[in-house]
Amino acid sequence: MSLPAVNQEYFVDFLVKLLNVTSPTGFAEPAIAFVEKELSQFSQLQLSRTRKGALVAKWEVPSDLPPVALTAHVDTLGAVVKEIKSNGRLKLSRIGGVEWPTVETEGVWIFTSSGEKIRGSVLVETASGHIFGADMTKTPRDDEHMEVRLDARTLSDKETRELGIKIGDCAAFDPRVEVTNGFIRSRHLDDKACVANIVSAIKSLVEAGQAPTRTVYFHISNYEEVGHGASAGISADVAELLTVDMAVVGKGQESDEFNATLCIKDAGGVYHEGLNKKMRALAEAHGIPYKTDVYRYYASDGEAFWRAGGDVAVALIGPGIDASHNYERAHMDGLIATTNWIMAYLLSG
Ligand SMILES: [Zn+2]
Repeated sequence: MSLPAVNQEYFVDFLVKLLNVTSPTGFAEPAIAFVEKELSQFSQLQLSRTRKGALVAKWEVPSDLPPVALTAHVDTLGAVVKEIKSNGRLKLSRIGGVEWPTVETEGVWIFTSSGEKIRGSVLVETASGHIFGADMTKTPRDDEHMEVRLDARTLSDKETRELGIKIGDCAAFDPRVEVTNGFIRSRHLDDKACVANIVSAIKSLVEAGQAPTRTVYFHISNYEEVGHGASAGISADVAELLTVDMAVVGKGQESDEFNATLCIKDAGGVYHEGLNKKMRALAEAHGIPYKTDVYRYYASDGEAFWRAGGDVAVALIGPGIDASHNYERAHMDGLIATTNWIMAYLLSG
């Protein structure tokens, strides 16, 4: 059976919009709401939220086969305001695995608890070349020496507090999305690219008048970057959990931006051999370009569910993402391959 076509224009449009919705872990509600609104156009899906705030879309299908689940996460790296300095600037506390050199000079929005947005940028505290010269490069890029310069008139702790900023306010780094020659360059393609893979797969199936062979739960997780995203909220009756998350591209990796990848092992251990075999067979049957790979500093929501006691087969697939947890990049070939792989899985027995 051939797979329905993927609407590439729709894919890019949805992904670019989602990338521009800020959603650091703990503050991911705007992105959950955005995906919820998009999925609400499909009457085949029953939408609900977990108490933790994740989105669950159930596509119920009459079938003798046990249900399965797919998961991807909308939460991203980010930070919170840790301290207001005497010069009015902010110290941040990082969320997830963000490293300071990857966000130095980046634009940032501070979201206050009263709903205001204040603009700023991330700088090392010895930022001026005319003051510090080459010594500037020696300053450690760490929590102590990095600060947010606000684009608001403040030179003191008091003036910054008067802007409405409080300790614990969310700080979101600009994604800086660009689409060129089939490449999508942006922060947070991890894992919004894979949310777009799931949404575009659903759309293609619906428009082709097709349905999964069994009941499917799509779990859009909101706490993955801190390790416990899908540990709760996956229905106990599912037999398999297909985790859709980015593949690691770079030195020593087999993955690239033009293929999808089946991850065999990451820092959390080895995935399920039986489900891996099934995913390989599906890719081969449908001519989906894929690699297998092993990731070093990586854990997934599939493993979070396993660690929480989930008794299911878990596999991990995803598009290759260059410079992950940094200024990331993907290519349409790898993205479309991943959407096709999801559809092949949904249509399989
Ligand atoms: Zn991820």
